[in-house]
Amino acid sequence: MYDGKIIFIVLDGLGDRITPQLGNKTPLQSAKTPNLDKMASIGITGIVDVISPGIAPGSDSAHLSLFGYDPFEEYPGRGVFEASGFGLDLDDDEIAFRTNFGTVEEDGNTLILKDRRAGRISGPEAKGLIDSIKEIVIDGIKFKTLHTLEHRGILIMKGDGLSAEISDIDPHATNVPVLKSMPLEKATDFKAAKRTAELLNKYVLAVYRKLKDHPINKKRVKEGKLPGNIILPRGASKKFTLESFKHRWGFNPACVAVGPLYKGVARILGFKLYDPPGGTGLPNTNIKSKFETGLKALEAHDFVFIHLKGTDTASHKKEPITKRDFIERFDREFTIILDAIEKGATVLVTGDHSTPAVLGRHSGDPVPVVIAGPNIRPDKVNKFDEISCASGGLHRIRGKDLMPILLSYTDRNLEYGLHPTNKSQRYIPHTWKGLRIE
Ligand code: ZN
Ligand code: ZN
Repeated sequence: MYDGKIIFIVLDGLGDRITPQLGNKTPLQSAKTPNLDKMASIGITGIVDVISPGIAPGSDSAHLSLFGYDPFEEYPGRGVFEASGFGLDLDDDEIAFRTNFGTVEEDGNTLILKDRRAGRISGPEAKGLIDSIKEIVIDGIKFKTLHTLEHRGILIMKGDGLSAEISDIDPHATNVPVLKSMPLEKATDFKAAKRTAELLNKYVLAVYRKLKDHPINKKRVKEGKLPGNIILPRGASKKFTLESFKHRWGFNPACVAVGPLYKGVARILGFKLYDPPGGTGLPNTNIKSKFETGLKALEAHDFVFIHLKGTDTASHKKEPITKRDFIERFDREFTIILDAIEKGATVLVTGDHSTPAVLGRHSGDPVPVVIAGPNIRPDKVNKFDEISCASGGLHRIRGKDLMPILLSYTDRNLEYGLHPTNKSQRYIPHTWKGLRIE
């Protein structure tokens, strides 16, 4: 019933390191995962350097790589994906940024960043603060800010002659000064980049002045919480088009995700988006609903991507036990995916990068992968974790290898060089035109 169809499941930040709190095992190793282990025993396993060995990927470049795109060549910057996830297509005169609320303290005339997430401010408080800075105009340039999830948001700068070739305000570290945005050294239009960076710096200071004594922040400080007194733009990007996933790989793809970034990457590649009821983008998300929505989508599509964020969120909070428990909950719901394998689906489970909970950020450690389906030649691995999968039949591969491997397992690949219409085409397209007798 699902013959030739693919379910592609990504547990964000799944890979991890040895964790003393878990008896020197990784969270995945210490989790009880009978269903994933069953999949490993009938499938083929390996470890994946999602971008390349030692590189710690961001989630957007990681997903591009998993979907068979080259993030070194085909990466426009984070802002455009965040905006896309919100259904926003950029105009030619717009620059998009991903933003976080942060907490700063004044030290003389510098602002020292104390927290990159303002104590994970969320809900009505985050919305209330955003409302006070929703639209700001500086020297004729419009700055529009939108709230997405928790401490996260999107900033859109609109006006003539702007450039995305500028550096981040967010220093990506704490107890260091908030950075001054600068034009990139190699900017193609240095003057435009310099002007854009200066405008962005002015904007961030204007935001700080508006937020530092905001009643919501005063209330938070009284309650012993961190104030959201600055926003930290990063990942400047312009409108960008990528070859569609369907054109590149021949599948008609669907996406089941909640986080705007993942929806944004999928939407730019032409995936149809499905919203799973009860999805939160957090460890408390409704996993069953994601699987059910994915299986429903598989009726009309032949490639369904399902994204779960709980593993990464737990790791960023340095909570290995929360991560292990989330993996166990995932495994309990996984039976319906095992059933889909029985019904002919080819299923892949992996991570987009490692986020060791002992470290609290992304690392360059490879992630485990398992693929099971009707055409798989199994290996001897019967447990799904970082260490076991390292001796699997796929060995150590890169993220961009996965799509060709899946084409092969679903018998959609063409012998290299033999395609009658396009020698570099890797799959059998649905659009062949037969020679007609006139
Ligand atoms: Zn990620
Ligand atoms: Zn992360």
